Amino acid sequence: MKVLKFGGTSVGNPQMMKNVANIIKSKEKTIVVLSAVSGTTDALLKIARNIQNSEIVIAGIEIEKLENFYLHFIIELFNDKENYLEAMKIVDEYFVSLNKYLSLKISQIHINEILTFGELLSTKLFGKYLSSIGVDNELLFALDFMKLKSNGEPDFNFISEELNKILNSFSESKLFVTQGYICRNSFGETDNLKRGGSDFSATIIGNVVNASQVQIWTDIDGVHNNDPRYVENTETIKELSYSEAAELAYFGAKILHPTCVHPVQAKKIPLILKNTMNPSSKGTTIFSEVRTDKIKAVAAKDGITVIKIRSAGMLNAYGFLRKVFEIFENYKVPVDMITTSEVSVSLTIDNSSDLLNIVADLMKFGHVEYEQNQSIICVVGDFLATNRGYIAKVSQAVKDIPIRMVSYGGSDNNISLVVCSKNKIQALNSLHEKLFGNNSVVGIESFQLSEVQAN
Ligand code: ASP
Ligand code: MG
Repeated sequence: MKVLKFGGTSVGNPQMMKNVANIIKSKEKTIVVLSAVSGTTDALLKIARNIQNSEIVIAGIEIEKLENFYLHFIIELFNDKENYLEAMKIVDEYFVSLNKYLSLKISQIHINEILTFGELLSTKLFGKYLSSIGVDNELLFALDFMKLKSNGEPDFNFISEELNKILNSFSESKLFVTQGYICRNSFGETDNLKRGGSDFSATIIGNVVNASQVQIWTDIDGVHNNDPRYVENTETIKELSYSEAAELAYFGAKILHPTCVHPVQAKKIPLILKNTMNPSSKGTTIFSEVRTDKIKAVAAKDGITVIKIRSAGMLNAYGFLRKVFEIFENYKVPVDMITTSEVSVSLTIDNSSDLLNIVADLMKFGHVEYEQNQSIICVVGDFLATNRGYIAKVSQAVKDIPIRMVSYGGSDNNISLVVCSKNKIQALNSLHEKLFGNNSVVGIESFQLSEVQAN
């Protein structure tokens, strides 16, 4: 069994959706996971917010715009009258339901219900299209099996039991289509896996069906070794370990949802990132933890706030960091990076909605400073602690850029630097040139290597 996930742009117009039908041809049993057609989830969120703010006329206009988009979509997708009319019925049904929310006092559950329409529509239309070209398929309703536990994590036992039960009931079928992103919470209410969560759906499904591989299809040739928006001549990385991929996903490589690596890593299922616009390109394969002793990629994450707490009370004290972190826990704000000295601690957060409250609470421990508009530059690779030279290479590359914080050794896969966001592009480019360009120093001096040579 294979799992193939296609993102919003991969089904973003009727021609693309038809291409997907070509890509998924396979002898092996396949589950296709789809996102909403690109722009749809944003539009639905806007509609939900309009209704919430009692801007009913605007919401009504937005619903009509979205409906028109789908009515045009199906004209191009189906070229025979019978299928077109059936597709029109599908679109009509969803938009009649959507319009009903205009007269409701809207709750979070209603918003979550509205947000399911994107994936429900894309999968229904795609399934219908496949049938119209003679490709048998079964549509699986993600809300029947995709479920979260009360801590917000996927309920793997439930998902495995329910999904495998459903799959077994279609023992003859070879092709299944289902929705990414949407799920139920522990109360059984409609919920979702957060924006971009379809990748996570795909790897959760891959895990519970013990897939031979999970493919994630987007509109870029796999993971690049730097951000192509800011740096020229970036290249696709052919292979990444799960840990490297997880670091990159979290720190900025937008191609992958940060949480989606773990479910495939747990079962050692290869995760392959491919490009719908360029299907013959090999993309990036994420697999195993083979040591490569290499710097693989550079990525950046913006919108970072650095908070620095200086306190004489920290000197030789224990329990100080716990008290500091408790404050972040109270506001449910994750801390990304941390560096400490004997009398101060600097840390970063990327959610600054409670920043002023957090700062006020921290002030009881000492002097507090904060700086917004910072970026974390993350250099990812295989940095075994016994190898030498990584930090030297990185710091040489950014020697002309003010560095606010450095973190190394937290994992074997990451060196992180905090710079002011206005210096980000310069940092990405200098790192690219020094680490991957013609002037790069190839190979890292390594204890392991010298031991091998000594033998
Ligand atoms: N449709 C959802 C979003 O736009 C989920 C996804 O595409 O992964 O965030
Ligand atoms: Mg995505």
